[in-house]
Amino acid sequence: MMKIARFVFNAFQENTYVLYDKNKVAVIVDPGCYDRYEEEMLFKFIKQNELKVAGIMNTHAHIDHVLGVHEVMKMYQCPFLLHKDDVEGLKRVQEYSKVYGFSGYKPAYEPTELLEDGDVLTFGDMRFEVIHAPGHSPGHVVFYNRKEKVLVNGDVLFKGSFGRTDLPGGDMDVLKNTIKNKLFHLPSDTLVLCGHGADTTIGEEKKTNYILQF
Ligand SMILES: [Zn+2]
Repeated sequence: MMKIARFVFNAFQENTYVLYDKNKVAVIVDPGCYDRYEEEMLFKFIKQNELKVAGIMNTHAHIDHVLGVHEVMKMYQCPFLLHKDDVEGLKRVQEYSKVYGFSGYKPAYEPTELLEDGDVLTFGDMRFEVIHAPGHSPGHVVFYNRKEKVLVNGDVLFKGSFGRTDLPGGDMDVLKNTIKNKLFHLPSDTLVLCGHGADTTIGEEKKTNYILQF
């Protein structure tokens, strides 16, 4: 069974996830660790659990989700996976990092692999289907582990709410379409891991999410 560890990092209270299998193969989702203290928290966890970091997979390239990419890649020499339509967004992070108060931002290395809708990623026993889920950002993806019924959903759905669409490349109609026609077609008992705040399920969001009013 896939194990899930969650860390809350940086001023945006971003959720970074470490997902790992019984053989201790791990993938890091959206490393948002910013300062030495946060990096140590993540590295210590990986060391104590004797995990082998096989890669970084990012749901998207907003600043709060990529602050730790540089240090994590340096530490583990691992691949970094990002959808092709968020590569431009990743390049822009450095320009606006100071505006958001992250003057210590170490620019993320370029992705080593560009993702597309329909890709299947395997890390040890864990298998993730890549679903393009634009609207919050143009190259946003979600990672669906069908066997474990877990959706790594980034900033598309939040518990009762959804990701903002006023940032560059954001689009409310596109996000609505992503949620209603892609995510809401997944099984109701799918656990949804969010980029901020608490977990939820597809079933709960289909009943209660604020997007239903649009
Ligand atoms: Zn975001």
